[in-house]
This record gives sequence, structure tokens and C-alpha cells, in this order.
Amino acid sequence: MAKRDYYEILGVEKSATDAEIKRAYRKLAMKYHPDKNPDNHAAEEKFKEASEAYEVLSDATKRQKYDQFGHEGLTGAFGGGGFSWENFSHASDLNDIFGDGLGGIFENLFGFGGGRRRSRSQSNRGEDLQIALSLTLEEIAKGVDKKIKINVKENCDYCHGSGSADGKSHVCPQCHGTGQVMQMARSLFGQMQTVVTCPSCHGEGRIIKNKCPKCNGEGRVSKPKTINIHIPAGVSEGQYIRQRGQGNIGKRNGEKGDILVMIQEKEHPIYERDGDNLICEFPISFSQAALGDDLTVPTLSGKLKVKIPSGTQSGKVFRLRGQGLPHVNSSYTGDLFVRVRVITPTHISSEERALLEKLKTFDSEKKLNPGKNFFGKLKDIFT
Ligand SMILES: [Zn+2]
Ligand SMILES: [Zn+2]
Repeated sequence: MAKRDYYEILGVEKSATDAEIKRAYRKLAMKYHPDKNPDNHAAEEKFKEASEAYEVLSDATKRQKYDQFGHEGLTGAFGGGGFSWENFSHASDLNDIFGDGLGGIFENLFGFGGGRRRSRSQSNRGEDLQIALSLTLEEIAKGVDKKIKINVKENCDYCHGSGSADGKSHVCPQCHGTGQVMQMARSLFGQMQTVVTCPSCHGEGRIIKNKCPKCNGEGRVSKPKTINIHIPAGVSEGQYIRQRGQGNIGKRNGEKGDILVMIQEKEHPIYERDGDNLICEFPISFSQAALGDDLTVPTLSGKLKVKIPSGTQSGKVFRLRGQGLPHVNSSYTGDLFVRVRVITPTHISSEERALLEKLKTFDSEKKLNPGKNFFGKLKDIFT
């Protein structure tokens, strides 16, 4: 199939401004994002197609090549196999649609890093911190705000992050401030020269002779901190929420790392979770099953009446639409599946016994009839 025109995909004019292109893409992303179209392959393809178009048209160089030569002009622009999610560098443009805190979910969806971290200098960046957060299904159903206490490395007050007791630092004598040194290494091909991080200054280019006594030259100390986290409804076990810039600060006024809040799910006494759906078992008596009844079934948002017909079999499943969990960042909500189970009484009164004895005289193979097959097969086994 011929590749569609990028402007056509985004529904914009050839003369569209960057802002118009961005707006058009956001509209399509909103419409076709897999979170809003679960299990819809066509929507996923459309989302990818629009993302490819946006990747090209939002880049002045690529756009110019495309304008001049069409798709031909971009041969090789995304590596041999054409555009894939690894090439997408605008995930951050969607943060305000899908929530900045949900980088993890975005990453889970496509298995790519969102493009926004890679270019960042990592050398002096503080560590990311991980904390686990256990949530009940009730909290997950509605979304919840949590306060979490955690020790985070922050700038040392004594040296204001410099790591130096006297505020001075010196150019590293080994690398002369470049942070890198040449190293000779022997290899199969003879002597090879490689560039490595300077071992004296660890790549910083400067060293401190008179270290700050409070932080021992690191420029940072651990401090207890309370962070507020908003958990959107519908998250699930194993997903994480990234709190950007809330983690450890890097050594000597370095960049701040992130806090990753890993979601854990507490076991629920009644419900089992299956994606966005919930499953529960509901005990009923033989007479309720035989005669039919109105059951009062607990849901995450309250109680609900469920009518079961006469002749309901044990194990029958009733589906309550929209009573499951909301899908994260979407308006879709799963269902609640109620599996009824007929409970055989273990303690019965003499009055009940008399009734059951009487009932027993009515029971016959014909009436029970769980399929003639069953009794037929029995006969085959015993004769
Ligand atoms: Zn050095
Ligand atoms: Zn200090």
C-alpha cells in the first residue's frame, strides 16, 4: 500500500505552522491513543501513523526534505525498517494529555523511553529513588492522593552544595579540567588509544582539596522529605509513577533524579482483578437458585440489586457492566463478573430436614436432568 501523505494524515495544509501541526497531532493522539482504544489494532496503527507524520513535520530539516522529495527524501531517516516507536522523540508533548506522572505507563505501552531522558547529561545526575506504594482496590477505583515520607539527598546547607569547606575548587591536575583522559590499551590490533573518564575527578574536571566537613565533599546530605503523590484511577500492579526532579540531587549541585513510585495492589477480601474487570463469587442457597431471587451484590461503589432467574445453576456468571475498574487515563470502565455458587447447608434444623426429606421424594433422574448423557455415561461405567 502506498504511504499516505503526512499532511493528509494530520489533516493540515502544506503551509501549516508548527503550532497548527502540533495541535492537529494532539487531537489525533487523543482520539487514537491505545489507552482509549483497548485492543483496537486499527486505532493503534492510526496513532503510530500520526506519530510518524508528526515526527517528520515537527522537525524543520525532515520537513524540508519531505516537502522537496516526498517519502523518498526520508529513506533511511528512521533506520532501515522505517519509523518505529524508538524514533519518536515527542512523548513529552503528550504529557499534558496523558499526565506527566504517567511516564511509566507510556513506556510500558510502547517499550520505549519516551525520548526525553536520553539526551540529558547523566554524569552528575542524582540517583532515582524507588518506593513501593500499596493500594487497595477501592483506592485504585477512585484514584487517591498520598503523602509519602522518604529520605532524599539535598544540597548541604554548610557548603551550599559546593562540597568545599572554603568554597574553593581547583582544576583537576590529571585531566586539566576536561574530565577525560586518554588510556592506552593492548588489543588484538595492537596498541589502542581510548578516552575514559578521569579517575581523579570522576569526570567533573575539578577537585576539592578542603572538603566540607558536613557532607564530606559530596555537597549533599540526606534529609527526610514528605512528597505528595496523585495516583490516577485504574493503575495496576507493577506500573510506576515518576515524580520528576524529586529524587536525589547530584553531587555538588548536580541535576536532580526522580522518584519512582511502584504500584502494588493489596489483596481484596472479595474481588479478584483481571485487567479492568473484577470477579467475585457470591454464595446462594439451593432454594434461591431454584426459585430465583434478588441478590444484593457489593460493588466498589456501593450495593447493587441483581436479579437471578429461577433455575440458576451453580457457577453461572452474571455480568454487571461498568462496575469494574476504570481504565487508567480513559473514560472506559471494566465490568464486574459475579459467579454464583450454590452452597449446600451443613447444619440443618429438624424442620428443614423434614422439608428436604419430602423434596427428596420428588427428585428423580428426569427432574434433575443435568443431561441424560450424565446418567447414560454412569450406566456405561457400571455395566
Ligand atoms: Zn580529572
Ligand atoms: Zn557540605
